[in-house]
Formats: sequence, C-alpha cells, structure tokens
Amino acid sequence: MKIGEILKRGEFSVSFEFFPPKGEEGQRQLFKTVEDLKDLNPTFVSVTYGAGGSTRDRTREIVGQIHSRSGLNVMAHLTCIAHTPKELIEILNQYDEMGIDNILALRGDVPRDRPDFRPPRGSCRYAVQLVSLIRERFGDRFSIGVACYPEGHPESPNMDWEVKYFKEKVKAGADFAITQMFFDNSYYYEFVDLCTNNGITIPIIPGIMPITNFKQIKKFASMCGAEIPQILVARLEPVQDKPEEVAKIGIDFAINQCEDLIEKGAPGLHFYTLNKSRATLEIYRSIRNLIPLRDQSV
Ligand code: FAD
Repeated sequence: MKIGEILKRGEFSVSFEFFPPKGEEGQRQLFKTVEDLKDLNPTFVSVTYGAGGSTRDRTREIVGQIHSRSGLNVMAHLTCIAHTPKELIEILNQYDEMGIDNILALRGDVPRDRPDFRPPRGSCRYAVQLVSLIRERFGDRFSIGVACYPEGHPESPNMDWEVKYFKEKVKAGADFAITQMFFDNSYYYEFVDLCTNNGITIPIIPGIMPITNFKQIKKFASMCGAEIPQILVARLEPVQDKPEEVAKIGIDFAINQCEDLIEKGAPGLHFYTLNKSRATLEIYRSIRNLIPLRDQSV
C-alpha cells in the first residue's frame, strides 16, 4: 500500500522504524519486536539503510523478510551518496519485483570510519536527485518519503535554507516527509507553519524517539542537532545509570509529546524503535484512545 495514498485519505499513520541487525541474536530480537508491534496494526514499518551502502544486502533481506513473513506494509530507506544511478536503479528494480511500494529517499552521510570516502562518479549529491531519479525511471510505481529537520539539518545555515531545499524534494515528487527526532514539540509546530507558509502541503510525520538509554540518545541527539530540553536533562541526568528509571521518565515524556502532537493535528507518529518493542508498546497503549480513525481493539 502506498503511504502517500493512505495519508491523502486523511488516515492517521502509525509507523515503526527498524535497522538491519548484525548477527543471529540481533535478528532474533528484531523479529520478536516485529511480532510484538504487528498487533498494533501499523500503517507501515521502515528499515534503515547504511549511508555508505554498507547494509545494501541486509536492508533488502530484512525488508523482504518482514514483508513476506508478517505481511506488513514496508518502506525501504535508500541513501544515494555512495551509489551510482545504475546501482540505485538496480536496487529499486529489486524492490519493485518484491512488491515494495514505499521508498524513503535520502542522501545519507559520508561514513565516519571512511575518511578517504569519495562519492562515485555521477552519484547523486543530494536527496532531491534521488527523488527525481525515482520519478523519472519508475513514475508513480513507488510512494516516496523524504527526511526533514524541524531544528534544521546540521549542514543548513538557517531555517529558510532548510525549507528551500526541502521544498525542492517536494517539487521533485515526494509524497510525504518524516522528521528527524525532536523533543520539544514547538520546533515541529513552527517548522510545519514555516513549510505551509512556503507552499509545502505534503504530510509531515513527526519522528518520535523514546529515551530509554540517556547516554546513547544524548550522543544521537548531538550528532543530528536535536535539542534535549533542559527540564528533561535535569530529570534524566541524576538517574542515567538506572535503566528502569530512565525508561520510565523517557516513556512518560514521549507519551506527553505524542498526546500533544495528536491533539494539535499531526498526520501520524513515526517511532524510532531501535529494534525494541517495550517503549513503543507502552506509549501506544497509553495514547491509543486519542488516535483518530484506527483499530482500537489492541
Ligand atoms: P538532503 O535532503 O540532500 O539534505 C542534506 C543537506 O543538504 C541539508 O542541509 C539541505 O538543506 C542541503 N541541500 C539539499 N540540496 C541542496 C542543494 N542543491 N544545494 C545546497 N545544499 C543542499 N541516514 C542513513 O544513512 N540511513 C537511513 O536509513 C536514514 N534514515 C533517516 C530517516 C529519517 C526520518 C531522517 C530524518 C534521517 C535519516 N537518515 C538516514 C539521516 C540522513 O541520511 C542524514 O541526515 C543526511 O545528512 C541528510 O540526508 P537528506 O536525505 O535529508 O539530505
């Protein structure tokens, strides 16, 4: 099912993001998480892609396995920075044959552990070129999502720049966007307003990262330029070595965040699960009665 069409019907979207795990234990944990979350009847689930092409085969395998084993609607992330257009088309052809309908078109980052990395000749420099490539080669075969950044991408000097290049991706054919994680909803509301004022009307789904490991999320957040509000830091810092207490605070915080987003009309919620189900399950159970137009039986 094409996500763009589901959103166009005005259906509230609930989605879960996974990454391709390494090793047997990681695989076991991922598929247990998929089973646990399947009961929540997600609109779609997504599988990330290594920027340097490092997870090329694993992403495809996991996408295929989730699609065939669980029957869930899967979106494959695809980063373009390390691939030639020919390679990208090959990957997209495989997704076409597998019956995958949704692609998250991304640029990706130069891998940190490969300082000598040079993008291959003719590769796409920005995600907008991948969106154009997909539309030129595949027409409407895929629904295309793109990334956006309510607090600004670390490479964007200001929010006008951010929105200008986000709009290019929309003009090239993106159907919807998913945000980088944020912890202060006002960034999301201001960003959506700025986009609307600039003529961007595609649904912008907020990305939710429940904090269950403060040290890890602090690192992620600083890498991607997401601010953790001082009030939350003050609660988490003293208990950062007590996983249960961190999880309780992090989950409560995410519940409040989601309640506010639903109330203020966000088109959906995209959960960064880190391949674990507990936080997402607890949040979903707490907010399910607020979610519009979904199966409430779980
Ligand atoms: P772009 O849209 O190309 O933007 C990158 C930067 O370039 C921005 O600052 C933009 O303003 C600027 N820019 C764009 N076009 C131009 C232009 N023509 N001239 C000058 N500047 C320009 N990474 C992964 O490796 N794998 C994943 O699976 C993955 N999934 C993600 C999922 C989500 C929901 C999000 C929010 C991010 C994800 N990322 C992933 C991270 C992403 O790859 C990085 O943030 C990357 O740095 C930017 O990718 P992009 O697609 O947003 O790039």
